[in-house]
Amino acid sequence: MSALPPRATIGILGGGQLGRMLAMAAASLGYRTHIFAPDPDPVAADVSAALTRADYTNRRALARFARSVDVVTFEFENVPAEAVLFLAARVPVRPGVRALEVAQDRLVEKRFVEGLGGTPAPYAPVETLEDLETALETLGTPAILKTRRLGYDGKGQVRIDNRAAAREAFAVLGGQGLLLEAFVPFRSEFSILLARGLDGSEALYPPIANRHEGGILALSLAPAPGLEPAHVAAATALAVRIADALAYVGVLACEFFALADGPRFNEMAPRVHNSGHWTIEGAETSQFAQHIRAVAGLPLGSPALTGARARMRNILGAEVHRAHALLADPTARLHLYGKAEAAPGRKMGHVTHVDHFPVGADLLD
Ligand code: AMP
Repeated sequence: MSALPPRATIGILGGGQLGRMLAMAAASLGYRTHIFAPDPDPVAADVSAALTRADYTNRRALARFARSVDVVTFEFENVPAEAVLFLAARVPVRPGVRALEVAQDRLVEKRFVEGLGGTPAPYAPVETLEDLETALETLGTPAILKTRRLGYDGKGQVRIDNRAAAREAFAVLGGQGLLLEAFVPFRSEFSILLARGLDGSEALYPPIANRHEGGILALSLAPAPGLEPAHVAAATALAVRIADALAYVGVLACEFFALADGPRFNEMAPRVHNSGHWTIEGAETSQFAQHIRAVAGLPLGSPALTGARARMRNILGAEVHRAHALLADPTARLHLYGKAEAAPGRKMGHVTHVDHFPVGADLLD
């Protein structure tokens, strides 16, 4: 397995901020990137050598894209699997289509993870209103009804606080391809971020504590404070088993709920992840550089922290208009994504601090 030579082109499916930060990391290693995305103005294309603006179902565009790149990766897991299969017949796709298929369907994902010894929150598949009523009897309330596919940032899910609310929640989510999850009274949420190389070597970042607001990640802190070492070890071992079982190549993020008796697997992202943005300054090798190294067949870098700890805060929606004020603090490391529309809740940028942040305060505030 040889590494991609300098000036080789890495194709990236998806044109958002993750693609943008991947493209910047690729450029540092001498690679060109080619973005494939349907969006009118993909921010990743601002920093890439080439852009194909086309729908993921456009086979002619996909075939042309495949001819112009040396390897394909993705920054967005809701790319149709057929598009990725089509590309995989023409050019290496890393991580592979199996990782994408598992991560695209919450039911498939939970069963896959259970098969590897992981424990998700109690759940039941829901295809009919009757299924939902039975599931509510078993799992109780509160519970969360989720779409199996296409959910992100708290979208595609509705909390159900009492049985009477079932019918409306079912209708809101379109009434099929759903899953009910018991609401777990977690102490905290954390993620395990790892990279797996083309040769099967692995690099593990320290566990990351995450705080969500309205289903959207607000803050991440590494290393996560207050977790039981045995629980971190169990979650880490599970993440490694997931990566190995998928013969995974690239960065993989697994999200967990921390409960008193151990971690519950929430979901995985077969890509670089928002909870790993702090690694740009806070780790010896950023998750973006790590992902590029993996898909290019290069050795992985050290995932060790550069300081004692790092904290990342997302800049959402209109907060971007005040973001430059953050630079009054000379230790703040600001990243803006160049998005034109500051829609409410939209991820516009993030700010990272390594070590120099208030001591004694609740670090996740
Ligand atoms: P998800 O898109 O499934 O990761 O959900 C987004 C966020 O909603 C999670 O990070 C949690 O903060 C919350 N959440 C989702 N599922 C559950 C659950 N079963 N119990 C408690 N909180 C949940």
